Amino acid sequence: MKDTNKHQGLRNQLVKLLREKGITDENVLAAIAKIPRHLFLDSSFEDFAYQDKAFPIAAGQTISQPYTVAFQSQLLQVNKEDKVLEIGTGSGYQTAVLYHLGAKVYSVERQNELFKQTSVLLPKLGIRPKHLSFGDGYKGLPNHAPFDSIIVTAGAPIIPPALMAQLKIGGRLVIPFGDKNQIMTMLIRKDETKFEKHEFGEFRFVPLLENKN
Ligand code: SAH
Repeated sequence: MKDTNKHQGLRNQLVKLLREKGITDENVLAAIAKIPRHLFLDSSFEDFAYQDKAFPIAAGQTISQPYTVAFQSQLLQVNKEDKVLEIGTGSGYQTAVLYHLGAKVYSVERQNELFKQTSVLLPKLGIRPKHLSFGDGYKGLPNHAPFDSIIVTAGAPIIPPALMAQLKIGGRLVIPFGDKNQIMTMLIRKDETKFEKHEFGEFRFVPLLENKN
C-alpha cells in the first residue's frame, strides 16, 4: 500500500492531460491529483495506473477511465455534504473521488467480490462512504432517498424509474444510457414529474445488469 513521489508525479501528469482534454472543475482535478489510483488496481497494473485508460478489475468488470470519472464527476456539480448515490461501486475509485468532493456517498454494487473488496480497501485509505451496499442498483436505495445527485457508472439500457424517483427536485442524474455504446446523459429534476435532459456524446461502459447472480 505504498504511495510514492513517483506516483504523485504521474498523477500530476494525468491531471495535466485531463485539463487538456477539457476538464475544468478544480475540485475534481484536485481529487484526482490526490487519490492513489494504483491502489485500486491489481498490482500487475501498477505501472499503467496513471494512464488515461480503463483496466480490468475482479469479477470481469472495469475501473473507469480517469477522463470518464472526471467528466461524470464534473457534471454532478457536487456540493459539500451532498447526499450522492453511486450505482456500480466497482473498484471504489469513483467513490473515492466523490468522497474527496465532500459528498456523503452511498454506493451500490451487484458483484459480491467487489463489494467485499471495497468494504476493506476504502477505510484503509481513509475513505469513508456513508453506506456501501451489495445489491441491485436498478432499485436504488429507497430507504436512504432522496439524493442530491445520482451517478450510474455502468451502461444502462433503460433509465431506471426508481433512480428518477429517488432524486431531489433540482438534483442531477448522470447516466451512460444505451445498449452497446452509451450516450452520457444528464437528467435534471425540475419538479415532481418534469426532467430536463442533456446529452454529452458517446462513451463505452460495462453493462448495468439486472440482479440475477
Ligand atoms: N465506478 C467503478 C465502475 C466499475 S464498472 C470504477 O470506476 O471502478 C461498473 C460496475 O457496475 C461494475 O462493478 C458492475 O458490477 C456494476 N454493476 C453492474 N450492474 C449493476 C447493478 N444492477 N447494480 C449495481 N452495480 C452494478
